[in-house]
Amino acid sequence: MLIIGITGGIGSGKTAASDYLGSQGIAVVDADEVSRQVVEPGRPALEQIRAEFGDQVLQADGQLDRAALREIVFADPEERRVLEGITHPAIAAEIRRQLEASDSPYTILVSPLLLETDQHELVDRVLLVDVPESVQVERTARRDEVPGDQVRHIMAAQMDRQERRRKADDIVLNDGSLADLHEQLDPLHQAYLERARNHGG
Ligand code: ATP
Repeated sequence: MLIIGITGGIGSGKTAASDYLGSQGIAVVDADEVSRQVVEPGRPALEQIRAEFGDQVLQADGQLDRAALREIVFADPEERRVLEGITHPAIAAEIRRQLEASDSPYTILVSPLLLETDQHELVDRVLLVDVPESVQVERTARRDEVPGDQVRHIMAAQMDRQERRRKADDIVLNDGSLADLHEQLDPLHQAYLERARNHGG
């Protein structure tokens, strides 16, 4: 099965791109969504987290108290490693499960950390949603209602634009309208369909 990874920095337009391809009938696995799903009540990872960190990381309704957990792991790198030892394998397994369950012509894995983690090993090609930094700051600040400096701070901790561009197989430049983005995605979508036919699945 052909798997296309979509990545890009914060607010670059990954969701805008995957939503559009999703509207063309392509299945989308969203790594951010998976990371929330694996810690829902009843899932083994949440049980493991509770066993490790105690009831203080659960809300009264049984949901994970992210703020409480974040405070614990922020203060202690060892605790962070313990947490990641629980969540990372659970996320990887669930991503694999959802990719395997897909029956669309090709499947998208959208992830902000595709290039930074071994998630890129799951995909056949990497499609980068690229944006000039000024556009990225402006759109993210507007969407999240936060100051531009806060967005720049997050961007400084992410992979830089040139390195992402070097690692990508395909690039769309999301500096115009959504219609412009869709216009760039159309030929890629056709190329992926063609590849999927040759891929034998
Ligand atoms: P994150 O990694 O932070 O979740 P993302 O890469 O998924 O972000 P989106 O949420 O798709 O990015 O886009 C960021 C914001 O910019 C959203 O509010 C979205 O509606 C808007 N946006 C994306 N592309 C365009 C565009 N071409 N024109 C105008 N607004 C856009």
